[in-house]
Formats: sequence, structure tokens, C-alpha cells
Amino acid sequence: MDCMKVLDRLGRPLTSLRLSVTDRCNLRCQYCMPEQDYVWLPRADILTFEEIDTLVDVFTGVGVDRVRITGGEPLLRKNLPDLIALLARKTAIEDLALTTNGILLADQLEALRAAGLPRITVSLDTLHADRFKALTRFDSLDVVLRGLELATSAGFDSVKIDTVVIRAVNDDELVPILALGQRLGAEVRFIEYMDVGGATRWSMQDVVSRQEMLRRLSAHFGPISAVDEDTAAPADRFTLPDGTVFGIISSTTEPFCRQCDRSRVTADGLWYRCLYARTGTDLRGPLRSGVGADGLREIVATTWQARDDRGAEDRLATKDRSPLIPVETLLDEPHLEMHTRGG
Ligand code: SAM
Ligand code: SF4
Ligand code: SF4
Repeated sequence: MDCMKVLDRLGRPLTSLRLSVTDRCNLRCQYCMPEQDYVWLPRADILTFEEIDTLVDVFTGVGVDRVRITGGEPLLRKNLPDLIALLARKTAIEDLALTTNGILLADQLEALRAAGLPRITVSLDTLHADRFKALTRFDSLDVVLRGLELATSAGFDSVKIDTVVIRAVNDDELVPILALGQRLGAEVRFIEYMDVGGATRWSMQDVVSRQEMLRRLSAHFGPISAVDEDTAAPADRFTLPDGTVFGIISSTTEPFCRQCDRSRVTADGLWYRCLYARTGTDLRGPLRSGVGADGLREIVATTWQARDDRGAEDRLATKDRSPLIPVETLLDEPHLEMHTRGG
């Protein structure tokens, strides 16, 4: 089958898909899941691997060639390596990766590699055990560090570290986290704290901007230069004087919506064209009621062609920014949560 490429109303192609395989998580990061109680997606709604397989073919049929497995915590999904093996065999996917909090990484590393997973990103916000516990509610820094360290010698094409930077929480750890990345050969990406659904404690005062991160890093390392590359990847990449490359994802203060080619499917098959979108498109319903691949491709293509989302740019233009969605609304509609959308 020929792949048809579709463009949205701003001329953006659909090339990147984030695939959430569960809404459950074994951490409670303060910037993502700070509440005591959550409403989970009904188990019967969670897509089977066969259904995910069909949907991925639909998306690659309209131009997707990058797939990232996420969650919640994707390593909580039973038999995940079976899904990875399925996806790794698809020649239409040029870039297959997984984002994990690292808690179960050491246990599953061998199976993930054997299944053919080429790239992995580990989220790690602090190197202090007490901070890790305060940030995530679990005393598990050692476990994550062990998983990360083992991952860097497991033969992946790349291992990355993603760090959400929050003022007065971990903004004094930019240098040590970069040093860890250097030691392990893992590229670090600093992420500005975002006011996404689920970040119910978010405040603009807690955001450390890309400009501020660069200022602080150059005060320590010397002149930093931007890597010259023309990609839709959300990280702007930079080089330290010693050649170390790192990224900064500045969705909050310098959004990149104009180049955004990504969308996300939740574990129960809702498709969102923007991290900030209030509504998504149900693909599970048509899939389970027998709409075939051609029909699904048509739904995806026409919906993408109507897309004009620029969520982070809209937020930037909002006066007096405060958390995007109130807790009561999140309890009513868990699809608005970052941990359901997959980041
Ligand atoms: N549980 C996995 C993990 O943490 O790596 C995968 C899912 S998590 C939702 C994906 C990414 O979203 C993580 O790197 C996390 O740090 C990031 N994230 C969650 N809430 C965020 C927020 N409010 N601002 C910026 N990044 C956030
Ligand atoms: Fe933290 Fe990821 Fe879980 Fe959110 S989904 S609470 S970022 S580990
Ligand atoms: Fe893309 Fe929406 Fe994020 Fe902008 S806010 S970069 S449109 S997902």
C-alpha cells in the first residue's frame, strides 16, 4: 500500500505518534500526578496489542514514521516486549523509542532489547534521594539510577535523560545531571515545566525558562552554541565548549507549535492532535465496530487535515496563567490528564 502524506491547515505533516499503552503509573510526580486519587480508564477499553498493531498501520499509512511508546508508565503494561517486537518489525517506522520513569527498567532491559527496541529515554529529575522521594512519593532513586546505568551498556542506539526543571526543586542540578549524562554517554534534555492537564500545582513562578537555563549553564561551562538542525523535534539542541550536546524543550516560554508534527493515542484509543486539546477522536469505537483500515485511515486523514491546534502558543498568549484544568474536571474526564495522554 502506498503511504499518503497528509498536511494540516498550517501545512504540518503527521509524522510522529506517541502511543500510550497504559494510564497507570508507579510514581506520583508532583508536576504530573500530585493528587491522592485518580480515575482510571476502564480495563475493557484498553486496546489490545492486535488493535494497537492495526492503528499503527493506519498511522504509518498517512505518513507517521516515528513512534514513541509512553504512558502512564509503559513498563507496567503486561507483556510490553511482545508489542515492541511487533512494532520493531514494521519497516515504515524509522524511529521507535520508549519513555520510562526507569523504575522497572533493570528488570525488563534484556526483554526490551531482545524485542528490538532501539532507543530509550529515562525521565530523571534529581540525583538527591530525598528530593526524589519528595517529588515522586517513592524512595526509588537508586533503582532508577541502576536501570539507567544498565541501559547505557545494553546496546541501545541511544539512551536519553529527560529532566523537568522546576524552580527551587531541582534547578540547582542542571550541571550535575549534565555531568551524569556525560559519564553515561546519555544526551540530557531539560524540559520546561508545562501547565498541562494534571499539573494542578503549576505556577509560572516555578518555571525556569530556556533562556535562564542557558544563562546558568554558560556561567558554569562557558560559551554554549546552538546545534544547527532543521527538524520538527521539540528539543533545541546545544553544544558545550567540550562538545557535549544537550537539549532544551521550551514548550512553556518558547513554543514550537508551528513545526509540530506529533499526535498521541491514549491506551483506550482516543486520538489527540495536541497536548492541550480538550477533545480527541475516538478510534476504538470504529475499530471495534468493524471499520476497516481504509475507513480508519480516512478518519485520521480528514481529521488531521482540519487540525489547526497551537495549544502551547495559545497558552503563551494567556494572561495570568494558572493550572490549565481544575481537579474536579480531571476527575470527570481523565483523558485530560498528562499521564493519560502520554506527554
Ligand atoms: N511515565 C513515563 C515517564 O515519566 O517517563 C512516561 C510518561 S510521562 C507523562 C512522559 C514525560 O512527560 C516525562 O518525561 C515527564 O517528565 C513529562 N511531564 C509530565 N508532566 C509534565 C509537566 N507538567 N511539565 C513538563 N513535563 C512533564
Ligand atoms: Fe511521573 Fe511519568 Fe508517572 Fe507522570 S506518568 S507521574 S511523569 S512517572
Ligand atoms: Fe504541538 Fe500542541 Fe505541543 Fe503545540 S502545544 S507543540 S501544537 S502538541
